[in-house]
Amino acid sequence: MTDVRLKDIATPSRTRDILEKYGFSFKKSLGQNFLIDTNILHNIVETAQLDKEKGVIEIGPGIGALTEQLGRAAGKVVAVEIDQRLLPILDETLGPYPNIEIVHGDVLEIDLHRLIRERFSGYQKISVVANLPYYVTTAILMKLLEERLPLEHIVVMIQKEVADRIAAKPGTKDYGSLSVAAQFYAEAEVAMVVPASVFVPRPHVDSAVIKLTLRKQPPVEVADEALFFRVVRASFAQRRKTLLNNLQHNLFTKEQKDQVIQLLAAAGIDPARRGETLSLQEFAGLANVIYAAKIR
Ligand code: SAM
Repeated sequence: MTDVRLKDIATPSRTRDILEKYGFSFKKSLGQNFLIDTNILHNIVETAQLDKEKGVIEIGPGIGALTEQLGRAAGKVVAVEIDQRLLPILDETLGPYPNIEIVHGDVLEIDLHRLIRERFSGYQKISVVANLPYYVTTAILMKLLEERLPLEHIVVMIQKEVADRIAAKPGTKDYGSLSVAAQFYAEAEVAMVVPASVFVPRPHVDSAVIKLTLRKQPPVEVADEALFFRVVRASFAQRRKTLLNNLQHNLFTKEQKDQVIQLLAAAGIDPARRGETLSLQEFAGLANVIYAAKIR
């Protein structure tokens, strides 16, 4: 069989031709910034460590620039696109790839457990790989993580500022509740920083690709996961305030000050510290002490 190499979608000229042919106009409200650089796409695909035994869910295929590269590298790709105007375009651009399926819908509404069950039977390893719409980055990531989807990796292009927050270590300015949440479910690393020139139209913020490798087990033991996340959110509510102050105002009441001091002492944490200095282990210890005291 001769391997006829298809022309990449993600070149400036082919992208322009496709957009012109269909009279497509970008919708800013849907975060439409399409990739026009094949090198970046190859790097993303390489970061995701795909092979023909693996499946991929893509969120927002656009005109199929990343999708076709995923189709070449993985066994099967299912891409979820919200914008109906893109469906006939994808029909044409991805026509040559029988292992790619398009699902029309909003990824935040779709039952992804069901999608995996119904469309990836026989696949042991499934990853999410995407150039995410920036207006919903955090909501999409939190859905993927909190729903505990059986994923190997999540490799996504997002705003650099959000990528830095996700991968931040305790004691740094970027460390916050998003860092704790992401690192509770996954190992996080910023895989590459990407210039605005690789998109049309160019976004107004810097971009980066983040790689999340999902953990089988959280790195800390927590008695009550919902309480753990409430403690974390309360601790970061006002970054300039001490832990004591934040917990008193956002989880307990002013009158419970002495109790909060006792709980912090039981967890071995100085009440004058700020939330941004606590490790995942310390947050877990504190949440477990609060859980055991049965006050919350
Ligand atoms: N993957 C393409 C690329 O890299 O060139 C397009 C990426 S563009 C940043 C984001 C894509 O997500 C757009 O195609 C947009 O229509 C789609 N999108 C926006 N919100 C969505 C949602 N809630 N669910 C599914 N797709 C969405």
